[in-house]
Amino acid sequence: MDNPWQIAQKQFDVTAEMIGLEDWLRRLLREPKKVIVVSVPVRMDNGNVKVFEGYRVQHSTARGPAKGGIRYHPDANLDEVKALSMWMTWKCAVVDIPFGGGKGGIRCDFKSMSHGELERMTRRYTLEIAGIIGPTKDIPAPDVGTDSQIMAWIMDTYSAVTGNYIPAVVTGKPLQIGGSEGRKEATGKGVYFTILSYFKHKKQSIKGKKVVIQGFGNAGKYAALLLEKDGFTIIGISDSTGAIYNPKGIKINKLIETKERTKSVVDYKDAEKISGSGIFEIETDVLIPAALESVINVENADKIHAKVICEAANGPVTTEADSILKDRKITVIPDILANAGGVIVSYFEWVQNLQGYYWTKEEVDTRLKFLMEKAFNKVIHTAEERNVSLRTAALMIAVDRVALATKLRGIYS
Ligand code: NAD
Repeated sequence: MDNPWQIAQKQFDVTAEMIGLEDWLRRLLREPKKVIVVSVPVRMDNGNVKVFEGYRVQHSTARGPAKGGIRYHPDANLDEVKALSMWMTWKCAVVDIPFGGGKGGIRCDFKSMSHGELERMTRRYTLEIAGIIGPTKDIPAPDVGTDSQIMAWIMDTYSAVTGNYIPAVVTGKPLQIGGSEGRKEATGKGVYFTILSYFKHKKQSIKGKKVVIQGFGNAGKYAALLLEKDGFTIIGISDSTGAIYNPKGIKINKLIETKERTKSVVDYKDAEKISGSGIFEIETDVLIPAALESVINVENADKIHAKVICEAANGPVTTEADSILKDRKITVIPDILANAGGVIVSYFEWVQNLQGYYWTKEEVDTRLKFLMEKAFNKVIHTAEERNVSLRTAALMIAVDRVALATKLRGIYS
């Protein structure tokens, strides 16, 4: 079962059973609250009109407005967006920030599109979903294939359509127009705080611990930089073009330079080139999947030689792989906890936009660290108390919080 929506629903069903969730809450929370599919016509540079398919899904708004990224990818599809929106609900709940879960996407080959085509597609998509987004309704953010420039276009289009200056409609904006200090590196930093908390809890030194990372984009790159600075040795890294391995360590700043110049990690000089799938077979202390979902599955779960997997990506481990890893005593720190740094600083950005008062990077980092550590401790203690995996513990906490909010609000009918 590699379909992310089936995985997300299965995880929910198992959690609902474990916490004895009432039947009506199970039926309500296993489906999204709102789904829209939109046609996005775009005039391409050659004069032809192309029609893209776009999505926005709000899984739950019980604890606050929906929150979640927008993904541009050739394989983006409704099931993926639904799964990601459900995971956003649990993520916001497990780190206890006042948001529900949402997600969006456009099925497009964004890499082959010009700047102008991307801008026109983004603005038209924003127009199509303008009725259901807003600072108190649903707040998009960047995800795979989207960045701060795209958030700036969304903010501008939404502000133009509504006739008001509304920076709080999206997060992950450039600093100059209401972005937050620390947002860019927040997901990687959250992954880093999580790994530190894990080894602290295990009373293990981090010096020289080996790390392998799949994906060298926003999440993977900043996690790598921070971990290297603290004494971890990053021995393997991959991106969509291939993978590299050096047991003595890859110099992250040098790799960033190479990737900026050639767009590929495989052009890094001081490492052996290995296959993209080979990245999962390296013997390491920590493996960080930081690319796409379902990459650790029945095909490779028994070839993994990591002690801990820290999920920077959303849904990188399938349900079947999860149980194989459990049997093999490989700890998995789940996505909804490990990669929550991004949404936490998005929350800070939204707060700052609503207040019109901006924080320093130190203030952002201190608050991020506080929330990440608090959530990690709650999850690990629940896991130990209930004798369940970290994923199950995180889901139990999250589903319980969302269910309680739903019950307290009651049904308006
Ligand atoms: P990104 O587009 O910046 O980077 C993705 C990276 O993955 C790129 O380096 C790309 O080359 C690589 N990649 C793609 N296909 C690959 C493959 N088959 N093998 C190896 N590498 C491959 O995206 P990102 O923002 O870093 O997001 C990565 C993951 O983290 C996604 O699952 C996303 O949902 C999740 N995430 C991101 C954030 C955030 O704030 N950026 C927050 C939470 C979760």
